[in-house]
Amino acid sequence: MTNKNWKPATKLVHGGTTRSPFGETSEALFLTQGFVYDSAEAAEARFLGDNSGYIYSRYANPTVSMFEQRMCDLENAEAARATSSGMAAVNSAIMACVKAGDHFVAPKALFGSCRYIIEKILPRYGVETTLIDGSNIEEWKAAIRPNTKGAFLESPTNPTLSVVDIQAVADLVHEVGGRLIVDNVFATAIWQSPLQLGADVVIYSATKHIDGQGRCLGGIVLSDEKWITEEFHDMFKHTGPSMSPFNAWVLLKGLETLDLRVKRQSETAAKIADLLSQSEKVSTLIYPGREDHPQADIVKKQMRGGSTMLAFDIAGGKEAAFKFSNALEIVSLSNNLGDAKSLITHPATTTHQSVAEEARLELGISDHTLRVSVGLEDQEDLLEDFSKALAAI
Ligand SMILES: *Cc1c(COP(=O)(O)O)cnc(C)c1O
Repeated sequence: MTNKNWKPATKLVHGGTTRSPFGETSEALFLTQGFVYDSAEAAEARFLGDNSGYIYSRYANPTVSMFEQRMCDLENAEAARATSSGMAAVNSAIMACVKAGDHFVAPKALFGSCRYIIEKILPRYGVETTLIDGSNIEEWKAAIRPNTKGAFLESPTNPTLSVVDIQAVADLVHEVGGRLIVDNVFATAIWQSPLQLGADVVIYSATKHIDGQGRCLGGIVLSDEKWITEEFHDMFKHTGPSMSPFNAWVLLKGLETLDLRVKRQSETAAKIADLLSQSEKVSTLIYPGREDHPQADIVKKQMRGGSTMLAFDIAGGKEAAFKFSNALEIVSLSNNLGDAKSLITHPATTTHQSVAEEARLELGISDHTLRVSVGLEDQEDLLEDFSKALAAI
């Protein structure tokens, strides 16, 4: 049950719903590994692909299919495969693009595990990689070669929220016949549609805003039907990064409120950004919804809204940043994001602790950089919490 003309909020509630003969209101949870066939002939036909139907939950499962279809509706994508985590989605999408002898390009500013796959794992299998400053289109031009089979980017990036011109990069990658994979976790499907901007594949960690309540891991790879069936599906089916039906069910329910949550969280984030920008105890503030974002023109071109995330530097170094974090009462210290609970992290000593100091500074992550994921708490309560923490430094 889907109508292409529905607005996102409607698709998020109804998209992909397939009812069992019981006519249940809520999506059914098909917690099963396998499926039975009416006859030996029917089993043979299903394995031959002559009749559609399920075979084994590593390949596909009715609850997982509902989640995949709802995400396809939201992204206007032709096909998708749900995965056990965001990293399973990133890894399988990248691996399906390349073989030994190919070349791959990505920005240096990436979620740590994404960078590990590109920088450390790909070269072990004979794929040469080039890491660049993703916000500089000249560096993309210089890096892309005739054998560049793929590129990967996040926009806005973790943790410093710089943005990459998706359309411009897609054009460059397509000139040599490569595929552009976009990790849309920070923007969410509510504010940005990479496939409509020219990307070939979009991936999510569903663990973040799609769940939105900190419960389970999940991921998804969305693209065109041809690539998913011809290039991606067999690798996916035989290597098994599949999503559990239980997680798909939780995430389907999460999607129902995605539009509400992301809009509310972004609205609160904008207010917190305004508050922080007015304090002399904050030296730099980066919020994609503000005019003073370093790439506000690109944000305006490719995003429909700001972000649930903000990044800022506390004047006074690590000690002041720690003092500020510890003084927050409502906002919890955690490296996670996209949760209903507001979370703050000090990247230099947590998510990016293993990155060498020089490389970290190059990414704009200093000892006094903090990243906040804004939750669903009352706006006034949160503003008061931030004001008190600023006063405590
Ligand atoms: C969290 C995250 C991932 C990885 O997702 P998991 O579900 O934790 O495996 C990938 N990219 C970005 C931008 C993320 O924030």
